[in-house]
Order: sequence, then C-alpha cells, then structure tokens
Amino acid sequence: MAVYKSQVLILKCQDWSETSQVVHLLAREAGRLRSLAKGSRRGLNPFSGPLDRWVLGEAVFSVADPDRLATLMELYETERFEGLRRHLPAFYGASYATELVMALVPDLDPQPAAFDLVVRTFRLLAQVEPEACRAVTFAFAWRLLALLGYMAEGGRCVECQAPVAADQPANYSAGLGGPLCANCRPEGRTHHLTAKTAQAMAFLASAEWDEVPRVRLSQTTANQMRSVLAARVAELAGKELSASRYV
Ligand SMILES: [Zn+2]
Repeated sequence: MAVYKSQVLILKCQDWSETSQVVHLLAREAGRLRSLAKGSRRGLNPFSGPLDRWVLGEAVFSVADPDRLATLMELYETERFEGLRRHLPAFYGASYATELVMALVPDLDPQPAAFDLVVRTFRLLAQVEPEACRAVTFAFAWRLLALLGYMAEGGRCVECQAPVAADQPANYSAGLGGPLCANCRPEGRTHHLTAKTAQAMAFLASAEWDEVPRVRLSQTTANQMRSVLAARVAELAGKELSASRYV
C-alpha cells in the first residue's frame, strides 16, 4: 500500500453514505484518483468536511489497489476559489475545465504541469471580468490537450507536415488534432476555421498568461473554437462534455 502526501485539488464530491463521501482528486504528485473520505460528513472529522469541490489543499491518502477507491486520511484546505461562484462565466469555465480534466487526465499518472495549469486557470477565472472567462477557458483547454500530447505541433499540416500559416483559413482535423494544408483533403470530422479563429487558437495556446484575459473572442470565433474542441474531445474521451455548450 502506497501512502502519498500531496497538494490536491478537489474535482468532485459525492455522498457515499450517511457519514462519508467519495472525493475525486487531482493530486500534484499522484495524478487523478477517486478516494473515500470516511466520516467526512460527521461533526468532527479530519477533513473539516463535508468536503466541497474546487478546494485546494494538502492531503494524505493511501492507494492499496489502483482499481479501487483510495483512502483519504487527511486534508488541510489552503485555498478556496470563491470567485468561481461569483458569476456564471467563471462558474461555467471552471465546470468545463473540471469535466475536461476528469475526461482526459489518466488515473494515477502524475501530471504536475497539468495540475499547475488547472490551479492557475482557477485563480484567473476567480478574479477576471466575466467577459474574459471564455478566453481563459479556451486557453486552458488548448494547453491541457498539448500537455497531455493530444495536439499536433503547431504550424504544420497533420497529414503531410507542410507548413501551415496561422494567419490563413484552414481545415482542422478533429481526429489528428491539428490543421490540414490546402493540398490535403479533409476526411472524417473536419472543421473549417477562419483565419481569425486559427490566429486566436494559436495565440491562446501559447501567449503569456497575462495577455489571455485581454482577449475578447467574437461569437463566430468562439463558436468555431467550441465545435473544434468538442469534436477533438469527443474523439479522445468518447463523449461530449455537458458544460461545453455554456463556454
Ligand atoms: Zn498537408
């Protein structure tokens, strides 16, 4: 049985019995996992429970069998992203980010960079204007896909490797996770992106974080980005995410 001490973010909580909860965690040093917090709904408990999602903390947990629930032994809360509940764009952004992590980050596979990305995104969503939340949420999504190896290298056709300029309209392959050049024939689930959308995608995926909240996406750009992202995630996770349509 392995015992971990790690920084964790609570992704989701479900009541398990009168007194306990199943807590889905993203642990910086251990990856994503489901754990049982015994007694977290009782009066006095080692978690200051009942536990709630979108809380950052230091936790101790044990994993006996990767196919079964881990046991959460201690959790000390260090940060609560209150701003995520201040307005709907922040709430939907965080909901979508959470669904994306639960659908794509593998179980018990440490992804410290993905962990840091989620925490940074939550902090930003909790503090920026409602109008900035969409750009922050899309920036998170592209960066998470890239970190997990689900995005092709930028600037090249995913079929033939020919250079594709980000300031040109392009077809985007949801199956291969990148743009197609003018010579490669779109097959399967392909999406047409205007030059503006292609530029905005490249910018959100790589710009300094300070710049991201300044981006205001037009409705057309947001719609194209949302549908490309939804198609890519459906390819990878085999399902549509329910918060996707609200971003
Ligand atoms: Zn090509």
